[in-house]
Amino acid sequence: MPPSDRPPPSGLAYRGRLAPSPTGYLHLGHARTFWIAAERARQAGGALILRSEDLDAVRFRLDFAAAMLEDLRWVGLAWQEGPDVGGPYGPYRQSERRAFYRAALEQLHAAGQIFPCTRSRRDVLEAIGAPHEQPGADDEPVYPREFRPPADAPLPPLGDILSVNWRLRVPDDVRIDFTDDRAGPQSAISGRDFGDFLVWRKDDVPSYQLACVVDDAAMGITEVVRGADLIQSTFRQILLYRALGKPTPAFYHCPLMLDAKGERLAKRHDALSLRTLRQGGMPPGKIIADFGKTP
Ligand code: GLU
Repeated sequence: MPPSDRPPPSGLAYRGRLAPSPTGYLHLGHARTFWIAAERARQAGGALILRSEDLDAVRFRLDFAAAMLEDLRWVGLAWQEGPDVGGPYGPYRQSERRAFYRAALEQLHAAGQIFPCTRSRRDVLEAIGAPHEQPGADDEPVYPREFRPPADAPLPPLGDILSVNWRLRVPDDVRIDFTDDRAGPQSAISGRDFGDFLVWRKDDVPSYQLACVVDDAAMGITEVVRGADLIQSTFRQILLYRALGKPTPAFYHCPLMLDAKGERLAKRHDALSLRTLRQGGMPPGKIIADFGKTP
């Protein structure tokens, strides 16, 4: 264990979560992150919640949603609350939780913390002098300050159906710090390292950032365990917890699993998908047993 690996937070009853998206078959990297999440919940004597992040109707497929739960059970993971087992904080599918996200959006709107934006991604990239997508770059380019409406401009009403993007107005040049339970101290400057980010999309779907914060808060999650690729999202999410007046959980970002070429595993790595390993005759439980040998 690295020196920064702090034990799971104690005090409040520990509640951890697995938050897979059914956009493809899960792979070994997901299994490893989820196993770490399960171990931390077990060590803390807490509960583990499974939440299906199935908001993205374009990329989401029903067969992947079923496969996801089946493959995680085959790996040997178990959860106490989830779409298949129920629980007091349900529903556990994001597609069924729209009312929660809409209420949070209305709260942010009433507080004047968001604004509508009709700029395209290309407009944003051009304005920041990066007309082409950078491979591996953070998924949301820094929104230029000159695109923002003035802070005192009256906000248009939200309307029932949203057809423009809405963004959180992030504070200019404020340092956001958190101590990651795995990766140690982290900091970023809002408005520089990341800008006004999407909370609701013009196809009338809440953003990942908003849905994740609303759910982690509503489900009483005390520690978020997930892949290190989401550290940049955590800074944004901390601002959302503050804007919504919710307590911020602890964070533990796991190092990503790499393939033989040193590239991070993705859902396109079919050979390392749990499905393929299982169909190839891998005995159940072996994957976790192997993780346990090489922490
Ligand atoms: N649903 C996200 C994913 O599968 C993970 C989100 C999170 O853990 O916060 O990449």
